[in-house]
Amino acid sequence: MAQELTHPSIKDGWFAEISNTMWPGQAMSLRVKKVLHAERSKYQDVLVFESTDYGNVLVLDNCIQVTERDEFAYQEMIAHLAINSHPNPKKALVIGGGDGGVLREILKHSSIEEAWLCDIDEAVIEVSKKYLPEMSKSYADPRVHVHIGDGFKFLAEYKNQFDVIITDSSDPEGPAESLFQKPYFELLKDALTEKGVISTQAENLFLHMPIISQLKKDCQAIFPVAEYAYTLIPTYPSGSIGFMVCSKDKNANVKKPVRFEWSDEFVAKNLKYYTKEIHEASFVLPNFAHQILNKD
Ligand code: SAM
Repeated sequence: MAQELTHPSIKDGWFAEISNTMWPGQAMSLRVKKVLHAERSKYQDVLVFESTDYGNVLVLDNCIQVTERDEFAYQEMIAHLAINSHPNPKKALVIGGGDGGVLREILKHSSIEEAWLCDIDEAVIEVSKKYLPEMSKSYADPRVHVHIGDGFKFLAEYKNQFDVIITDSSDPEGPAESLFQKPYFELLKDALTEKGVISTQAENLFLHMPIISQLKKDCQAIFPVAEYAYTLIPTYPSGSIGFMVCSKDKNANVKKPVRFEWSDEFVAKNLKYYTKEIHEASFVLPNFAHQILNKD
């Protein structure tokens, strides 16, 4: 009989997401049915387990990346807030996003002719193809082009190429550290076409206001339009996560969809979180955050 896989973050049948730096004094725990995969890749610790109530769960360096039950709340928002803020997006790029979920959302737009993905770690793509089929099914689409490498280095090679660039990265500790710094946002701007739009994973209002505040300042120094929005998601720390949404077009208003090609039937069938109304509502912040982020 094959020996049961284990992992140091799993004790007494529960996975605990402990980080003394990113979310001190708290930890999301998920009950574990079975550990499916555990390895130390070239870049990070990669764990996949079947949970009792959230489906399969991907964990990198002890941080929950996606669960099958609630990933839609994040993938839909980080993708459609940006794509529906561009007048005619044809070529999109994901930095990170190895699970394939953001790619899946990009491909829901009929205007998209090419969907590129650059993830530093092929191990994440491989385990996602094996254990996260509803996300990694996107890799089979003929419009998809996958590049394995550091997003920072990848972007330096592309100028004026992409209408939308989505940075679906892990947290700024480990391989994603450079993706939260100003030089990276300069590269993003140069890689965008004239009316290009970006969105990035931008942490949690209750836990990371200093990070978010600096992110917004850096983005405002580079993009004429830079706004913070957020989504609700049970398994991310403190139940929500945000996005910086920026446009190169000084006349753009990313707080409202500039296009919305989908019928009500399509939305009902294909979107579990994002709607026109949620697009606008997601930029309305609790007052403590509004006072810091929206006051010039
Ligand atoms: N939605 C998750 C979140 O908000 O935390 C992120 C999911 S996705 C799995 C994160 C991906 O970022 C991982 O596949 C990781 O390999 C990738 N990544 C981290 N640093 C990177 C870098 N410098 N360049 C490209 N991809 C990177």
